[in-house]
Amino acid sequence: MKPDDLQPSPGWTLSRRAGRMTSSAIRDLLKITEQPGIISFAGGLPSPLTFPVEAFRAACEKVLREDGRSALQYAASEGYAPLREAVAALLPWKVDPAQVLITTGSQQGLDLVAKVLVDQDSRVLVETPTYLGALQAFAPMEPQVVGIASDDEGVDIADLARRRGDARFLYVLPNFQNPTGRTMTEGRRQALVQTARELALPLVEDNPYGDLWFDAPPPAPLAARYPQGTIYLGSFSKVLAPGLRLGYLVAPPAVASKLVLAKQAADLHSPSFNQRLVAEVLRDGFLERHVPTIRTLYRDQRDAMLEALAREMHGLDLRWNAPAGGMFLWARLPAGIDAARLLPRAVARGVAFVPGAAFYAGEADARTLRLSFVTASREQIAAGIAALAATIRENPRP
Ligand code: PMP
Repeated sequence: MKPDDLQPSPGWTLSRRAGRMTSSAIRDLLKITEQPGIISFAGGLPSPLTFPVEAFRAACEKVLREDGRSALQYAASEGYAPLREAVAALLPWKVDPAQVLITTGSQQGLDLVAKVLVDQDSRVLVETPTYLGALQAFAPMEPQVVGIASDDEGVDIADLARRRGDARFLYVLPNFQNPTGRTMTEGRRQALVQTARELALPLVEDNPYGDLWFDAPPPAPLAARYPQGTIYLGSFSKVLAPGLRLGYLVAPPAVASKLVLAKQAADLHSPSFNQRLVAEVLRDGFLERHVPTIRTLYRDQRDAMLEALAREMHGLDLRWNAPAGGMFLWARLPAGIDAARLLPRAVARGVAFVPGAAFYAGEADARTLRLSFVTASREQIAAGIAALAATIRENPRP
């Protein structure tokens, strides 16, 4: 065999859609952060300390013993009925289990939503900034993605009304948003739902972090207030484990059946075995015992990061927020410092973060950065924030 580059070209022609699939700037940057010895605030991973391994070991044994043949068989695209019932029962508004579609992570929910609702050049509204994985899921459908101005309380309602146009939907993360960690206030939720109704604007609400609150639960979801106008996406990744690849969506009847057809074409169904495991683990109110342990751990880690920032960033013009839940903290560097340019210097000092620019649909704020506080230990957080402060201090301003 000749080496690949000496073979005659077999004439692959890539689709225009494939051209829209670009490697995220973050993934490329993260490669440099994976070197040994780097304290990384860059990842988007939950802490593996929170994965309930023992509960899954017991569930595996039970599912294989009692239901092994069905668990290993093909199954319905909508999902395993007892899991759909468990999801409906977990949600804080009245949901018929028939409305619940089990997805292969909420990331698949985003892909299915894009396939069913977005044509080439369709207008899609997002927060500023927003979840990069959603921008990636929407991109192959070739939409016009419009970033709506957003502040600490959530989307700017006046800007939303101004720029609604003929948008297919607004994609919104009201709780402990990725990347900013911010939470939409009760007042803003009411105003958003009222405006969405007036403008007949559908909402796609993504809520993988809502259960990870630290002091008090966040206000009720948008879907609870406006179910007929909202597709709601949820996930087991942050409350159980992401390797299961299980999430769910709740959709109004007008779109639900098409989402099931899109799901069927994508992967027939999410893994039957994993669905049974989760249904088994969820029995007897497991989440009510388990999720508080995640909250306690993450709150402690957030506090460690806030303390380290207050201690180390003295005299530096760095601004940061104090997230009330979730996994991420958002910061803004002093004027003249570009986070992407700072990253290699920070890595040289042994610490990594994600530059914020990748999370913007429109013009990016290059001074922003995202810090995950959940996978590093308290000691690593202290050392990593000190290294970041030293990097900012030595940074030559242009
Ligand atoms: N939405 C948001 C906002 C996320 O942060 C993530 C995970 N990083 C996802 C969706 C996808 O999660 P999963 O597919 O694991 O449910």
